[in-house]
Amino acid sequence: MIDTFGRRVTYLRLSVTELCNLRCRYCMPEDGICKKDHAEMLTEDEMIAAVETAASLGVTKVRITGGEPLVKKNIVSICRRAAAVPGIEDVGITTNGIALPALAKPLKEAGVNRINISLDTLNPEKYHRITRIGHLDQALAGIHAALDAGFEHVKINAILIGGFNDDEIIALTDLTKKYPVDVRFIELMPMYDGGDFGPEAYLPNTVVLDHLPDAVPQDADGSVAKLYRLPGAQGNVGLISPVSNKFCSQCNRIRLTADGKLKPCLHSAEEFNIKGLDREQMLRQFQRAIGAKPEEHDELSVDHRSQAGRNMNQIGG
Ligand code: SAM
Ligand code: SF4
Repeated sequence: MIDTFGRRVTYLRLSVTELCNLRCRYCMPEDGICKKDHAEMLTEDEMIAAVETAASLGVTKVRITGGEPLVKKNIVSICRRAAAVPGIEDVGITTNGIALPALAKPLKEAGVNRINISLDTLNPEKYHRITRIGHLDQALAGIHAALDAGFEHVKINAILIGGFNDDEIIALTDLTKKYPVDVRFIELMPMYDGGDFGPEAYLPNTVVLDHLPDAVPQDADGSVAKLYRLPGAQGNVGLISPVSNKFCSQCNRIRLTADGKLKPCLHSAEEFNIKGLDREQMLRQFQRAIGAKPEEHDELSVDHRSQAGRNMNQIGG
């Protein structure tokens, strides 16, 4: 379906849970979240009905996210069924990687063809600090498990945080030399309850290039990342810059939260419920939500926080 501003919506980001086995400071509160009543959340059948509805409107690509999608007990079944929906050509998953040693192979067999793994630092103490409870060795084991399972499009997503990991830009990009992975830096977004980050934490991604004088620009891969390659590298370095260089004019996404709300825009509080609806009603809500996509979101900065009305774990980043 084409929205009011001529953008073709082809990409559904499906959040399957708000829960997580980590507590990243930029994403969710320290005490986790108040667990919602099971009855408020989408069932597996409703998620698949939503994927089918999206596909009927021209969506070809689904990314499963959360919260942490791999803590969802039926995640392999959700992925298998989503991948089998006619019209869906591409199923990806975004994960912190912790559960990949057990799940990478089953996910691959279920038809998942892309994995993005979040990793902001290679320092065990800093990893524990940013995730509040995580252990770096588990995340690294997850990356290895994804590669061993034969995933070809492994992308490592690092949030660039001034005063935290801007001293690790070279160490993180060196992963593209050691492994067949892309490393992508994402600008920190000032979310609703955005943790305890001061102005110095919000760095433009251009800082990454200041550290990589040998980086050679590459053709785009269909994502919103600007790509570069280091000499001798097996994968690309990507820059995703939602704050300094927002990509609203290219936005081809619609998001569905785990509690059944379609979000036309990540940074708007406008939502369209699909929980408990029949197919006809669901289709109409999808059409309304796509029709409601704004031309662009408001400015984001430390003084102009996201208007999403939810934290990232409750949206599906
Ligand atoms: N748990 C999975 C993970 O961490 O990859 C999937 C969900 S997480 C919400 C999805 C992505 O959103 C992660 O790459 C995470 O780093 C990113 N994210 C969360 N909060 C963010 C923020 N405030 N600004 C930018 N990216 C954020
Ligand atoms: Fe969990 Fe991902 Fe949010 Fe970290 S970024 S708290 S891993 S949902």
